Amino acid sequence: MSERPPVKLVLVAAVALLDADGRVLIAQRPEGKQLAGLWEFPGGKFEPGERPEETLIRELHEELGITVKEACLAPLTFASHAYETFHLLMPLYVCRRWEGTVTAREGQALKWVRPVRLRDYPMPPADEPLIPHLIALM
Ligand code: C5P
Repeated sequence: MSERPPVKLVLVAAVALLDADGRVLIAQRPEGKQLAGLWEFPGGKFEPGERPEETLIRELHEELGITVKEACLAPLTFASHAYETFHLLMPLYVCRRWEGTVTAREGQALKWVRPVRLRDYPMPPADEPLIPHLIALM
């Protein structure tokens, strides 16, 4: 029996921020990063010991300058995607309330988009299967 090499697991938490008009925020991955130019739901990698809500609260403050309360983060679904060199597990949360103004703190391009228009923006393969879940929610 052949043994499989261990799979490297990468844990990322992502969030669909929804505004009062039902639009969702997407951010463009910057030059120099893997999958540069593609549009993704904001979020980032778990730091050791973090729960996904803690990851999102930290990342949303760092990347977008907003403050989110844990009670305002509702889990929606999960992405599970095998990239060539790692397996990505990525819970997607929905958030409709935050404090502060969404600001591109890391120079990333940001767009507010209706969920039905998300397919106009190329996304990483892990993110694409999340789109129907958001459309169903609206
Ligand atoms: O954002 P970061 O580069 O830290 O994410 C690690 C990896 O997870 C990326 O290289 C990318 O392949 C994947 N990823 C993704 N969709 C996201 C965020 C990250 O597929 N929304």
